[in-house]
Amino acid sequence: MKYYSTNHKSQDVTLEMAVIQGLASDRGLFMPERINPLPESFFQEIGSMSFQEISFEVAKKFFGKDIPEDTLKKIVFDTLNFDTPLVNVKDNSYSLELFHGPTSAFKDVGARFMARLLSHFLGKEKKMVHVLVATSGDTGSAVANGFLGVPGIKVHVLYPKGKVSEIQEKQFTTLGQNITALEIDGTFDDCQALVKAAFMDVLLKEKITITSANSINVARFLPQAFYYFNAYAQLKDKSRKIVFSVPSGNFGNLTAGLFAKRMGLPVHQFIAANNRNNIVYNYLKTGVYEPRPSVSTIANAMDVGDPSNFARILDLYHNNHGEIKKDIVGTTYSDEQIKETLLAVYQTTGYLLDPHGAVGYRALEELLKDDETGIFLETAHPAKFTETVEEIVGKGNVPMPEKLQRFMKGEKLSLQFSSKYEQFRAYLDGLE
Ligand SMILES: *Cc1c(COP(=O)(O)O)cnc(C)c1O
Repeated sequence: MKYYSTNHKSQDVTLEMAVIQGLASDRGLFMPERINPLPESFFQEIGSMSFQEISFEVAKKFFGKDIPEDTLKKIVFDTLNFDTPLVNVKDNSYSLELFHGPTSAFKDVGARFMARLLSHFLGKEKKMVHVLVATSGDTGSAVANGFLGVPGIKVHVLYPKGKVSEIQEKQFTTLGQNITALEIDGTFDDCQALVKAAFMDVLLKEKITITSANSINVARFLPQAFYYFNAYAQLKDKSRKIVFSVPSGNFGNLTAGLFAKRMGLPVHQFIAANNRNNIVYNYLKTGVYEPRPSVSTIANAMDVGDPSNFARILDLYHNNHGEIKKDIVGTTYSDEQIKETLLAVYQTTGYLLDPHGAVGYRALEELLKDDETGIFLETAHPAKFTETVEEIVGKGNVPMPEKLQRFMKGEKLSLQFSSKYEQFRAYLDGLE
């Protein structure tokens, strides 16, 4: 399968090149040239298939021509060594729990898949590949854990000193093996600038092989379609209209859902559930896309002012606002509304949402019709945001899963860096 750029100004590339390059040379995002539908028989059997089996069938439609079947199967099965259970919260609203992976957030799915796919493509090379990733919190942990122990790859996580939560920091500073954490005396933007400087450094790139693992990479983005099918598989009554509510930031998650629909998944509608960063909500209302600097909210992984994957949505619908509006409706909520929902759901049902999931749930509560079944994506475990959630539901009411406790017990190891390029460059120059 060939991959084209959403900017349509660069040559089509192979899957291998799309994964290694990340971004097209015209700065556009890669899109697969075709979206192959799944056969009727797949949907008849889906209820009796495992998450791994379902995902393998979906993966073959994208990657089947580019990767040997047994290799692809191994990549899919290794990636998904955890489930995404569908849990009824209230009436016709269900939570698709995407937090059962190693770092308790949905980004595990894409990061683990990408790590294995990259390792496959680089397998032929003798040289070590260095993955550079700048993080403000969640991405670093998913990428680091996704690549942990993968042969031929070393990961270097750059994060701003004192600006990530304790649990987030522990998730990428305690791993050891092929993961190194670089604590930068600066902001997230400084971390990103250092990574960019390294990618522009021609002399450095002659010496070591570097690549990036950010969320616009097709290998992180496409696998997110898997769990939409897994949600459908678990629904007892498949005859009702299905609405997916997606707490959205960069819109990778929602766009993957649109791909699932194009592959034949019977989805009636998607809800783009936003916090106060409501650029897409406004676009859906007015047809005008106006990016703005992001504002901070308690659902901070969704604090995005210019969602990068929106370019993929526009491309998928050929810029047709009317067609986009048929498939996607928008909502936007303040921190107060998020807190109110999180507390009310906890008190009336006992189900503990995280702030991001609360945005998704509230959208269903307000928009779901009687003949519809609603599924919201619970994108992270509430214990990843213990402080915020305890403030809402009370101290001691946010149990921390064993997995997260283990991270907390680990010893933090990081290298200290200034935000100047020279020191970072010297570090990279010393790598093999
Ligand atoms: C990244 C993230 C989101 C936003 O997902 P996008 O694919 O960027 O829209 C939502 N919730 C959590 C917990 C996240 O980490």
